Amino acid sequence: MIDTHAHVHDKAFDSDRDAVIERARAAGVERMIVVGCDLTDSDGALACARRYGLHASAGVHPHEAKDAPEDLASAFAPFFEHREIVAIGETGLDYYYDNSPRGAQQRVLRAQMRIARERKLPAIFHLRNAFDDFVAILREEWRDGMRGVIHCFTGDALQARTYVEEFGLKLGIGGVLTFKSAQPVRDAARAIGIQHLMLETDCPYLAPVPHRGQRNEPAFVTETAAALADLLALDLREVAEHTTRTAAALFGLG
Ligand SMILES: [Zn+2]
Repeated sequence: MIDTHAHVHDKAFDSDRDAVIERARAAGVERMIVVGCDLTDSDGALACARRYGLHASAGVHPHEAKDAPEDLASAFAPFFEHREIVAIGETGLDYYYDNSPRGAQQRVLRAQMRIARERKLPAIFHLRNAFDDFVAILREEWRDGMRGVIHCFTGDALQARTYVEEFGLKLGIGGVLTFKSAQPVRDAARAIGIQHLMLETDCPYLAPVPHRGQRNEPAFVTETAAALADLLALDLREVAEHTTRTAAALFGLG
């Protein structure tokens, strides 16, 4: 399996990172995408990926948009010389926390979509309470051949259909799927079907049941995979095969 969204370079893992990666591999999570959230954090993600033989992304999270470099394309260009970097992001809009002004979030999102387009890289999107504005920007910036994932998808079936059918996006399914309150996400996953879904943790955040509230880690992808298998009446093996194939194709992992 592939954990398509892991912040294993986060300081939450400083005391036992070797063991965390080892546990992931022992659990069948052989590959991970270490996701960066700003320039410095993306450096950390890349260094972690190089050290452990993982993949990484580089980008600016909407929370950090207010501090993003003016010329984003130049600032991030050096990252794309490293074969570990397989995506741009995470980028997007977060109107729940509004940690950056919405205008800055939108500017930085558009800039990263253009980098994704020019570099022919998939984009990793973070969305919260911003569906309408995000889709409006997608309609302006998205072109045929572009690829991406809505990471930690928490919308409903209608939103899922828009992402998948209009833009060909994939949905990243994480621990939220196992939360009692997440019926809309389960309905969406069922409506969309396994071929458009990928597994992720977003660790150290959002641990699935039965680890909810604890530090999340890539090995826990197995809990989400089991919940997804249950939901879609598939074998665990089928869930692993489908999601791995989808992730390998999206991120060009071969
Ligand atoms: Zn994340």
